[in-house]
Amino acid sequence: MIYLDYQATTPVAPEAASAMRPWIEEKFANPHSPSREGREAAAAIEVARKQVERAVGLERGSLAFTGSATEAINWAIKGSVEKAAPGRNRVVTVQTEHAAVLDSCGWLQERGIEVTSLPVGNDGLVDLDDVEAALDESVALVAVMLVNNEIGTIQPVGDIARLAHKAGASMLCDAVQALGRVAIPEGPDLVAISAHKIHGPKGIGALWMRKGAEPAPLIHGGGQERGLRSGTLSPALCVGFGAAAGIAAEQVQGDQQHVERLWTAAIEALGPGWIVNGSVGERYKGNLNIRREGLDAARLIADLRDIAFSLGSACASGSGRPSHVLRAIGLSDREARSSIRLGFGRYTTEGEVAGAIRRIGEAAQAQERFAA
Ligand code: PLP
Repeated sequence: MIYLDYQATTPVAPEAASAMRPWIEEKFANPHSPSREGREAAAAIEVARKQVERAVGLERGSLAFTGSATEAINWAIKGSVEKAAPGRNRVVTVQTEHAAVLDSCGWLQERGIEVTSLPVGNDGLVDLDDVEAALDESVALVAVMLVNNEIGTIQPVGDIARLAHKAGASMLCDAVQALGRVAIPEGPDLVAISAHKIHGPKGIGALWMRKGAEPAPLIHGGGQERGLRSGTLSPALCVGFGAAAGIAAEQVQGDQQHVERLWTAAIEALGPGWIVNGSVGERYKGNLNIRREGLDAARLIADLRDIAFSLGSACASGSGRPSHVLRAIGLSDREARSSIRLGFGRYTTEGEVAGAIRRIGEAAQAQERFAA
């Protein structure tokens, strides 16, 4: 199988798997208990926390582990609105955000919070003038992702954070697809991340919080994570996340260069007839979202079972609905259904990319012959 679905999830790094093993097989102490073994587990979690914080690379803050980035985003949005000053009852976001953001905003909207969802251009980028125009003293939070999970486009998050702060609002950045790939700019007050997108385990994410910007807790109980996020932490998952983040921080340049080479190999292999969806310049190059006139992308995926790739996002792929991101950049339903997402990274070879694209091209041409 050729795996080209790095935006859905990434293979676990061998270093992360071996760091986790003792915490699964031997060491089972509760990290919140005062026993010697418990303190050892707590210390391992603190080492992991530092590794992940270093990979985030921002100053004057710290992070709390969560069960996923989805949880971190729910917490950041709902907890920031709850904590906001009286009169700040509006959230500003963008139409191309992940469902975790859009559905959290929808949930708040049903409870009387106003939500402004900004459009993007054909390039997938939000206009900074639109952001500025949407901001006033009624805004509690601005939520914008750095690297889009479907089309890889990079939003000007540093500039957006400056505008948010000028209006007295906080800024949440969903950096799930950016961590270890694209530097997170200074500015956001809250940053959501996930281990399984950086070659760590599934089932653990984190919310980085600038000091003073911590949202009100969403999960109550034993008071773990400074009383901000209750629940017994898993040393194995934390240590795996830490090891993956350590390697990501060390290898970020090498990974970036590798991905640029894969992108070039992919574009060369594609040939005519394919159009890249979204900006090519402002983009993480490990995401190649492309369309072809008349292509039945769902059939293509069914025809090529030994190549793992996606229709849009993993979520949109399952639902049968055309992707909201592709619609937001102005694609028709038909064009959205003719789009595929190829995602590659650290463990992908140029040969795999070229071979998969050759087979995708042949299958697309076979569809055309059949339709003619
Ligand atoms: N945000 C983005 C941009 C994502 O790509 C994803 C995962 O697909 C998430 C949030 C949710 O992450 P998790 O799988 O940790 O809940």
